[in-house]
Amino acid sequence: MHRQPAMTRTPHPARPEIVRHVADGPHTLTVEVVRDRRLRTSARWTLNGETIQVRAPVTLPRKKLDELLDKIIARVLKERDRARRHNDADLERRARRINRAYFAGELGWHSIRWVDNMQHRLGSCSSGGSTDGDIRISDRIREWPDYVVDYVIAHELAHRRHPNHSADFWAYLARYPHTERARGFIEGFAYAQRADPDDLL
Ligand SMILES: [Zn+2]
Repeated sequence: MHRQPAMTRTPHPARPEIVRHVADGPHTLTVEVVRDRRLRTSARWTLNGETIQVRAPVTLPRKKLDELLDKIIARVLKERDRARRHNDADLERRARRINRAYFAGELGWHSIRWVDNMQHRLGSCSSGGSTDGDIRISDRIREWPDYVVDYVIAHELAHRRHPNHSADFWAYLARYPHTERARGFIEGFAYAQRADPDDLL
């Protein structure tokens, strides 16, 4: 039997054995299946953009594989639906609630929206110029714990009064009661990313 040593195996991607296309509203998800000799019992999958990449053991029968794909697709569609329902209108309502609850409703802004093009930051709030008062929240944090997402919103709202990370800014933001806990969460995230937490929002 010819056996290729693991170390010299090239990472050349195998051609997918099965490709399915699944409609998701105006989007199309692509499902690719690669048979992987290294897998013994269970399949692995990841969602990469709009492509679901599945690696399945060579021994998994086609019928079982089809059942598995149905399950994976159902789960991805459900998650994507949930993400869409957390839309910008929800974010606006959430910001108003935080403004009322912790800042006596005294803060104003022009817009608040989820964005998918922030590379490093988790949130931003512009001050001055044509985009004054536009708050952007990275959609990477949509599924983070509510107290952390609320903190990020409160942080950006507080910048409407104090644009910089001054002592006054932190004192003002401390009105949001989970500030310390949420900052700890974000410090942990920043540490893993080798980033400065103060640069993230
Ligand atoms: Zn900030």
